[in-house]
Amino acid sequence: MEFVRLRGTGVSPGIAIGDVLLMERVIFSSRKETISSDQVENEIKRLNKAIARTKKDLVKIRDSVKKKIGEDHSFIFESHLFILEDKSLLPNLEKSIRKEKVRAEYAISQLHDKYMKIFESLADEYFRQRKDDVTDVLSKLYINLESSRKKVKEEDGEKVLVGHDLLPSEAALRLSQGNVLAVALDMGGQTSHTAILARSMNIPAVLGLRHVTKKVKNGDRIVVDGTDGEVIIDPPLAIRKEFEEKKERYDDYRLELRKTAALTSSTLDGTKFTPLANIELPEEVKSALSLGAEGIGLFRSEFIYFQKTSLPSVEDHFLAYNKIAKEADPAPVYIRTVDIGGEKNLPQLNIEKEPNPALGLRAIRFSLSDRELFRIQLRAILRASVLKNVRILIPMITEIEEIGEVKQLIYSVMEELRSQKIPFDENIPFGVMIEVPAAAAITDLLVKEVDYLSIGTNDLIQYYLAVDRSNELVSYLFKPLHPSVLRLLRYIIETANKAGKEITVCGEMAADPLSAIVLLGLGLRKFSMNPIFIPRIKKAFRSVDARTVKKIVSKAMELRTAQEIEEYIIEQILVKHPEAFLMSEIT
Ligand code: PEP
Ligand code: MG
Repeated sequence: MEFVRLRGTGVSPGIAIGDVLLMERVIFSSRKETISSDQVENEIKRLNKAIARTKKDLVKIRDSVKKKIGEDHSFIFESHLFILEDKSLLPNLEKSIRKEKVRAEYAISQLHDKYMKIFESLADEYFRQRKDDVTDVLSKLYINLESSRKKVKEEDGEKVLVGHDLLPSEAALRLSQGNVLAVALDMGGQTSHTAILARSMNIPAVLGLRHVTKKVKNGDRIVVDGTDGEVIIDPPLAIRKEFEEKKERYDDYRLELRKTAALTSSTLDGTKFTPLANIELPEEVKSALSLGAEGIGLFRSEFIYFQKTSLPSVEDHFLAYNKIAKEADPAPVYIRTVDIGGEKNLPQLNIEKEPNPALGLRAIRFSLSDRELFRIQLRAILRASVLKNVRILIPMITEIEEIGEVKQLIYSVMEELRSQKIPFDENIPFGVMIEVPAAAAITDLLVKEVDYLSIGTNDLIQYYLAVDRSNELVSYLFKPLHPSVLRLLRYIIETANKAGKEITVCGEMAADPLSAIVLLGLGLRKFSMNPIFIPRIKKAFRSVDARTVKKIVSKAMELRTAQEIEEYIIEQILVKHPEAFLMSEIT
């Protein structure tokens, strides 16, 4: 038989091979099944029984999810119970059963349609989320009506979940049951709820596969490769063997890496370094810390906007920052003010389309152009700073004047908070990102204005080499080891170190073992990255001698091309510290 290979986004690494459990969503029947007048009371009884059973189920699920994966994920079920106990729900259903003389299933289906229409007319993302919750609760009720109960009986045993999408509650419930080998979905991406949950529970997952549900049926054999974002349905023996071996290698590797989370962050010669995490959602803090992060080096706060269709309030901002600060406490949390504008246009902001968005009204330029919005964010960050582990980080600084303006705004918001007797950290550390080459060139001046610096190599390289970071056509030119980039980085790092100011790299360079070793050799000690890479980088650093690396890198700086530099460093490091790289990374 022909096997099928599909590509998606690998959102949680690892490999699993198993049988498919296809999650078919409840389809509310639109068939109007009528009943006679003397059946009405019975039908209402049946409905009440289903409601009672659904309540019981929800309480059970809530308690079990709370126990297995924590309160963060169990609150969804709290809100579901709330919906189920809503005063208008039962009377509405009863009314249509009595009036129209229809089966409870049909009454639910009609009520669902009605709710969906109301929700669709509302633009707010908050309500869109509630829409999913209503669907979720009504689906549970629907399948708890005896007639449809049998249909959803699922086989026991370990399975690979395949579906179109997973509602947050389904994700929490399914993944907490301990029998999910992997997840493959048509929808979703890196930051979807399922992705975050799968990552934090070590369940391989590939999302955004578009049509996987159309290609599989229950019981099919499936390979899910969450590391490379691939799914194979009904693989022939040879391919299965290949993935079994890959899985074994990966599992051993992960086991070994995991052990490094608990080890000290120091090189062979005792040089200390600090691994930090880049996160996009507050829910990521716990798993980042468990992977060895010693703080949150970058919270991309624009994700608060991406999750809503209306403007987030001070409270929305505060809830996110406060959660991160509390969960990370006492570890530091660097909250970057929003990096929106330019390409990251959001419908709720009505930003004008720009001819050259990467060079336009982006990040701090945008924030300074809408100061009311900026004040809302600053106020929330300051309010969340009471634990004294929060820092303010400003993206895309180009000139000193911008820093002056931002500081004025911060002082003014501080004054407002003082007058309202709202506590905050009076000494909250203030830092800026070096992403624009012009800012890099005045590092000696910037260090006098800030408490710390953070280098965003993704943008810095894009602007320095004039290579669009998201354009595949020129991606071959995006070279972090280009001699010009290394010279610039050396200048920034040395200048900050000399001034005694803390310096971090939070771009992708920090997550790549070779580039990270180069940064170590240039004198960098703080590395912020997607948390899943922390164990890998920690392992590399723990197997090298920082003084030797420094010498190798300084020699490499005399070379002419990125390729020469790369080859030289790999060769030299391999001679001295062969464990620093994995063969797969250099072949
Ligand atoms: C960077 O530019 O390196 C960075 C970390 O910011 P972002 O990737 O969010 O632009
Ligand atoms: Mg950037």
